[in-house]
Amino acid sequence: MPLIMTQLLLKPGRERSLFRRHPWIFEGAVDHLEGRARPGDTVDVIAANGACLARAAWSPQSQIRARVWSFDPHEIVDDAFFKRRVAAAVERRLSMPQLAGQEGMRLLHGESDGLPGVIADRYGDTICLQLTAAGSDKWRKAIVGALVKATGVARIYERSDSDVRKLEGLEPVTGWVHGEAPDIPLSIDENGVRLGVDVVAGHKTGFYLDQRDNRLLTRALAKDKSVLNCFCYTGGFSLQALAGGAASVLSIDSSGPALAGARANMALNAANPLFETSRAEWLEGDVFEALRTFRKEGRTFDLIVLDPPKFAPSAAHAERAARAYKDINLHGFRLLNPGGYLLTYSCSGGIGLELFQKIVAGAAVDAGRDARILQRLSAGPDHPVALHFPEGEYLKGLLVQVD
Ligand code: SAH
Repeated sequence: MPLIMTQLLLKPGRERSLFRRHPWIFEGAVDHLEGRARPGDTVDVIAANGACLARAAWSPQSQIRARVWSFDPHEIVDDAFFKRRVAAAVERRLSMPQLAGQEGMRLLHGESDGLPGVIADRYGDTICLQLTAAGSDKWRKAIVGALVKATGVARIYERSDSDVRKLEGLEPVTGWVHGEAPDIPLSIDENGVRLGVDVVAGHKTGFYLDQRDNRLLTRALAKDKSVLNCFCYTGGFSLQALAGGAASVLSIDSSGPALAGARANMALNAANPLFETSRAEWLEGDVFEALRTFRKEGRTFDLIVLDPPKFAPSAAHAERAARAYKDINLHGFRLLNPGGYLLTYSCSGGIGLELFQKIVAGAAVDAGRDARILQRLSAGPDHPVALHFPEGEYLKGLLVQVD
């Protein structure tokens, strides 16, 4: 650590977002760098009046030019810093009664846990770690060490292959960074249902932990219902619906490997009579087309889940994404039996809750259905949203009932 830190000088007025404790410093806010810094190095952030406001990770290739590690200009960013931050985040989860007994849980949720660019999901005694920014990439060893110390897990797999790394000029990095590959496929118990998790080849870190509570809600609603689960991935919502006593569950995904995972999940739960394979139908196909086909065939459902991929990764894609959300919701509404439920989600950062609600309302009108929101939905408490970082709230959903 050099005695005199490199300084990032802000343009006049651009210190305001830091006073609100927002951790991102955009390209346009940077006046110049005094001294040298390599990607990921820690720099002091200096306001135009000379005040030191924060310590941040320098990321010269990204539009987010620096991400704040600490708003205390005296806090040293070293191994001990990561031990403190990681231990605090893990402790927050341990003290949340809602998470008690969960084998699958997000332990580190990036900026909202004070660790920009760090995602860590725990699956039993394995953690899948994803580093997405130049700063977090630089501190890999410290973060891995801190996770091992705070949790005692047997193994950690790094899955830093997300596209956002390209924006930081980072190459993909994957592999076991602590312990060795397990001999048997990984799986977790999620509220009584066993679900396989493929940390190496699955989506994200292997599984969509953020929908845990919403899958449980589906289970509570599913008894004796005919269920349609669109964008089912490995069948998380489908299996919870079966566990809730659904009469039938039809699940659609365009990915063959995802459906193979879903079938494997059915086999994992075969001892439970509710998981009779005759109740579950799996369809490999495009949801946009399938919804139209069902309409032509006169097929209807009591409960429909729409959990599509991120149609709008950023606000720039919002318009096209809005059309896609409208389309699936409109065609979903048309297939619902009277009194039926729609569980509809968007995980697009570029589409806020208000806009999403408007899109769903427009879809209901165009489908000629009267409907009401029974519940607004979000990711679970292991995906906290720091109050100063609204960008952290990416997943939003509505439980809607039609007349
Ligand atoms: N609901 C899931 C997560 C869904 S992720 C869970 O709880 O685990 C989104 C899924 O949509 C992915 O599995 C992807 O393969 C699938 N997908 C993307 N575009 C699709 C399309 N047009 N039709 C069907 N499936 C699609």
